[in-house]
Amino acid sequence: MASKQTFSRRLLAWFDQHGRKDLPWQRDTSPYRVWVSEIMLQQTQVRTVIPYYERFMARFSDVQALAAAPPDEVLHLWTGLGYYARARNLHRAAQQLCEQYGGEFPASVEALESLPGIGRSTAGAITSIAFRQRAAILDGNVKRVLARHQGVAGWPGETAVHRELWQLAEQYTPRQRVAEYTQAIMDLGATLCTRSRPRCEECPLQADCSARAQGRQTDFPGKKPRKALPVRDTVFLILRDAAGDVLLEKRPPSGIWGGLWCFPELADTAAAGDWCLDRFGRQPTAIATGTAFRHTFSHYHLDIQPLQAQLDATPTGVMAASDQLWYKVARPQQIGLAAPVARLLANL
Ligand code: SF4
Repeated sequence: MASKQTFSRRLLAWFDQHGRKDLPWQRDTSPYRVWVSEIMLQQTQVRTVIPYYERFMARFSDVQALAAAPPDEVLHLWTGLGYYARARNLHRAAQQLCEQYGGEFPASVEALESLPGIGRSTAGAITSIAFRQRAAILDGNVKRVLARHQGVAGWPGETAVHRELWQLAEQYTPRQRVAEYTQAIMDLGATLCTRSRPRCEECPLQADCSARAQGRQTDFPGKKPRKALPVRDTVFLILRDAAGDVLLEKRPPSGIWGGLWCFPELADTAAAGDWCLDRFGRQPTAIATGTAFRHTFSHYHLDIQPLQAQLDATPTGVMAASDQLWYKVARPQQIGLAAPVARLLANL
């Protein structure tokens, strides 16, 4: 395919002219410096990383200095960067490099990958940039560029999509100028092929970019599928007294419907008789099951079973509690009601 042959050539020509070449970790591409930059750049933007990187390098200029440092000092220099497991892994990996490899980085993806916190992409970056050996990378920027250019549908967290992107990353990585290519494709993703508004008209890959041809740039890579929400059940007890008023309870200030008024909730419909006996010293005279419905919150579905029950008198004493009231359906009080409660009351 013509595109495959020219992909890296076009990218490299663009990088030569427009790419960033003066970032602190590009000036000296020792394995140690590339490694620290790659770890810091995970989930973090270049401009945020720069001052942290420079402070880190000023204090720990090589892997031995990092390995010998107290863990608290490493974490202190990481403070504000987030994802602290990265710093802990960096420190452990430095110690392992000193113990197992005499403080030298192994020049192979497999050996690098065996170190704490180094995945296949970081190992590929160190191998290609620092050792200038052919190795592919697939960080977030590269995933975006490849998924768009090749029109790879689906979320990269899915095994099949991930595998397809890795295959493309391997295929497109050139034999020549691999260090520059690695920096170029990362740079393209960070500066032109950005998440929300890619600047396709300046992109060296625009002529055969599948996402651009379809006008669907932001559909690639696919989003993480939304998880099916869990379902919970509840029973709303719609208890009416002899006057037709309905018992409501005020919910605790925090949690769902915090501070709003709601029907008493039961674990199941069979509990209504005992509940009334317990509270009012009498069983309901009639119980009828209403039509169940679903109310959806952001994090779960609540399946609500309404249960109507009738008391043959107006109980006394219940009004003493400030978190309970008899709601007057004909002359409603001005109170905050949970949405499904308001709906059910309106239907009475
Ligand atoms: S043409 Fe646009 S969407 Fe395609 S790779 Fe270039 S910047 Fe990304």
